[in-house]
Formats: sequence, C-alpha cells, structure tokens
Amino acid sequence: MATENRNLFVGGNWTDAAGGKQFPVYSPASGEVWSSVADGTRADARAAIEAAREAYPAWSGMSHSQRARIIHKVGDILEARAKEFQEILIDESGSWVGKGMFETYYSSGVFRAAAAAAYQVNGEILPSEYGKLSLVVREPLGVVSVISPWNFPMILSSRGFAPALAVGNCVVLKPSEETPIAGGIVFAEMLEEAGVPPGVFNVVTCSRDNVAEVGDELISNPAVQGVSFTGSTAVGRQIAAQAGGLLKKCCLELGGKDALVVLADADMERAVNAATFGSFMHNGQICMSVERVIVDRAIADEFTDKLVANTSKLNVGDPRELPNCIGPLINQKQADKIRAQVDDAVAQGAEVLCGGGNDGLFFEPTVLGSVTRDMRIFREETFGPVAPVIVADGVDDAVEIANDSDYGLSAGIITRDEERGLAVARQLRTGMAHVNDCSVHDEPHVPFGGIGASGLGRHGGRQGIDTFTETRWITLERGARQYPPPFLMNPPGQ
Ligand code: NAD
Repeated sequence: MATENRNLFVGGNWTDAAGGKQFPVYSPASGEVWSSVADGTRADARAAIEAAREAYPAWSGMSHSQRARIIHKVGDILEARAKEFQEILIDESGSWVGKGMFETYYSSGVFRAAAAAAYQVNGEILPSEYGKLSLVVREPLGVVSVISPWNFPMILSSRGFAPALAVGNCVVLKPSEETPIAGGIVFAEMLEEAGVPPGVFNVVTCSRDNVAEVGDELISNPAVQGVSFTGSTAVGRQIAAQAGGLLKKCCLELGGKDALVVLADADMERAVNAATFGSFMHNGQICMSVERVIVDRAIADEFTDKLVANTSKLNVGDPRELPNCIGPLINQKQADKIRAQVDDAVAQGAEVLCGGGNDGLFFEPTVLGSVTRDMRIFREETFGPVAPVIVADGVDDAVEIANDSDYGLSAGIITRDEERGLAVARQLRTGMAHVNDCSVHDEPHVPFGGIGASGLGRHGGRQGIDTFTETRWITLERGARQYPPPFLMNPPGQ
C-alpha cells in the first residue's frame, strides 16, 4: 500500500471518522488496494460544517488581498509537489502520466485564477429617483459544500472550491470515493501548509456506503448556503431537487454526449486529430469527451478510414509509460457499462471498425461505424474510449443530429470556413462550443458549464464569482424621500 490510514480534515485537525472506520481505495492499473481512507459519517459532515460556520466571519472579513495571497501560495505548493501528485493520479485514478502532468499544471492555474477572482468581487452604483446612494454589492454565501468526481480529481475539486474560498466562503469538500486522496486529502495538506485558518477548508471523505447520509447532510444542514456539484446527471438531479426544495444556491456540472461536427470542407488532418484526442484522451473519461463524431457524407469514408488508422496507433498499457496513452478505466462498473453499450450498438447493426475488445479494465480504443440514432450509444453517456461515427447530409442535418440530445455540455466544429463555423457554433444547444477544435477544452478563467441534462450554473470567470456570491441591494437615504403626510410625526401645515 502506498499511503495508509488517511484521515478527515475538520476544523484544522486530522481526525478519525466518527465511526472509527476506514475504506479501501483500489488502484485501477493493478487492481490492488492502494490506500485506506477515513469513512466519514453524517456526524463528521456536521462537525465540518460547524467548523466552517465558525470560521466564516473571520475569513469573509479578511481583506481580499490576504485571501488571494494564501490562495496563490497553494498554487506555489502545488507546483512544487507536482511530481508527487502525478504519481498519486497514476496510482489512484489510473491516469496516463501525460494526463497527470496536464492535470497538475492546470490545477495550479485554477488557484492563480481564483486568487485573481478575489480582486473582482465588483458591485455597482445605481441612479436613484430619490438621490439615495444606491449600491449593488456581492457578498459570499457563507458555507459552501463541494462534491467532486474521480476523472480529473485535482482539477474538478479545485475548480469547485478555490473560487468559492477566494470570494470569502468557507468550504466542506467531499471528494469521490474513487479518488479521496487526489481529490481531497492533498488539498487539505496544501491549504494547511499555505496557512488557511482552521475551519475555512474541510475535507470529509467517505465510502459509497456512507455517501447518501454524508451527501444529505452537506445539502440539508441549515448552515450550508451553497452547493457545487460535479458528477453524473443522475446524482446531480437528486442534489438539485433537494437543494431546490430548500431554496439553496446550487451549481451543477453534469454529464455530456458531446458532438464533433466535421463539415465537408474540413481540414482532414485537423479533423482526425481532434476526433482522436477528443474521443480517447483519458480513455474517454472526460465530461467533454467527443461521444458522437458527426461527419458530412462527402468526406465520411476518407475521414473514417483515417480515424481508424490513427486510433489503431494508440497504445494500451501501463499508464506510467509515456507511450501508453490508453490506461485502465476507473472500475468494473464503467467497463461493464461501456461493454453493454458497444454490444447493443453491434446488435443493432453498428460495425466495430477497430478495437472493441477489453482485458479487464483495459478497453481498446474503439471506432464504431454505421451508428444510428436509435442506439443507446447515440444517446447515453459512455464515458469510455469509443468513437461512434454518424454520417450527416450537409450542415443543417449535422446540426440537427448534434442537437438531438438531452445533454448540452460542449461541442467541436471542424470547417475551413470560419464564419460558417461560428454560425454553427451559435446553432448548437450547448454551454460551450469550439470551432476548429474538439469539445475537450477548458481554461481556469472561463465560464465553464452546460445546459439541459449537462447542468446548471457556471464555474470560472466572472460568472463563477456570481455562482459563489449573493447579490444585495443597499441604499443610503439622504433626506429626499417624502413619505405621505398621514405617516409623518410632523405633517406639513400643522
Ligand atoms: P457520480 O455522480 O457517481 O459521483 C460524483 C460525486 O457525487 C462523488 O463524489 C460521489 O461520491 C458523490 N455522490 C454520489 N451519490 C451521492 C449522493 N446521493 N449524495 C451526495 N453525493 C453523492 O459521478 P462520477 O462517476 O464520480 O463522475 C463521472 C460523472 O461526472 C460523469 O457523468 C461525467 O460526465 C461527470 N462529470 C462532469 C463534469 C462537468 O464539468 N460537467 C466534469 C467531470 C465529470
């Protein structure tokens, strides 16, 4: 075991779970237990929320520049420990070494952008009919619960909590049970070292067995005012329903079924590279992965042949080795889901053009031809290394096929005609769209998020500041407002 008996971080202390239990964390590449982590309970979540509530007045009252300095320091620590974290990402989440390098690099950028956001909690001064000083101010929510997934645990946890902290909230983070260390414990270590005061940032890890009760506390506790959730649409819906019933602010980043639209005038090499990277980076386990390649009939045969040739070059194997960009899936449940979707597609007439097999969690990168809209693989999120190719007749048909989805996260459009590319981007019902790139693209300071079944609200940028603050209207009366005479102590004329 690489790391043992890791505890919760509550109120600035490393503590055992209330029930005293730990749960095992498996390494996807070896299948062996790699670590054991405290199995938090409702009581632990409650204690963490209470610690955050107590820490809130001092943290929100601290100057924005002091908060920014601390958050910058986390970025420095992350960069200094990047190599160590890359090892953890490989062991704990089965990440390819190149993905680990990208993830640590990007995550430090999340802290830089969050530190900058601390300086941008801007308000407005409005004109007033009565000559009042009329202010719109933004204030932190209070205690924010952050729930994150396993696929990019460092990026998606930090994106959930760093801007929230920067603008003055206190946080309880619950990382995925698959990646409690990369998604949670390493941040507690870094924030402690950076000098974040006790209680401002707390981490409660727990197993799948306890997630319902811990999750319930993280949403329903009256001290919690905001929720940031990144994960599946099914769980996101439950969380949104619960938070909505309690009228709590909720930002949800959920699943996707993103399209790459390859138009007839596409640069072929660019299109093939975008489809290959977008479909197979991190084995397709990215919310913005290309999950439907929609290609114009005029170039479909040439494009598909080239995509198959390029995909066949991808190496499957030990993710620690740089040439092996296809490593293990996160767990057997994911492997079973992907297998079921591929088998269903084949049973309904799809053709496996390359790949299609798996050895345990190692799933070959797969290109499927003759895919139609009635197949599960067209509609359901796959989250695996499968590129279903769908043929379209012209631009309008391609747009119509792309929009035939409940999801709406991101999209890519490949065309030599930039104006048409931008026009198509505007027609797609997604939160994000990238012309001459694939759907997999993100930067720490942009408004990231989806529509429809892909979520609600935005992380990042000015919109991310809005997510983690409340707008208030405050006025100062300077004597110009006249109440009607009957309400006055000394009405005029008496
Ligand atoms: P998941 O929904 O199973 O789990 C996400 C988080 O929710 C985990 O921390 C999990 O422990 C927690 N959770 C599960 N049940 C809960 C409950 N009842 N109450 C509270 N918390 C609960 O998702 P996953 O398998 O970890 O991640 C994969 C999914 O996440 C995919 O659908 C993917 O598309 C999505 N995702 C979305 C984005 C985005 O930005 N839109 C990014 C990454 C992943």
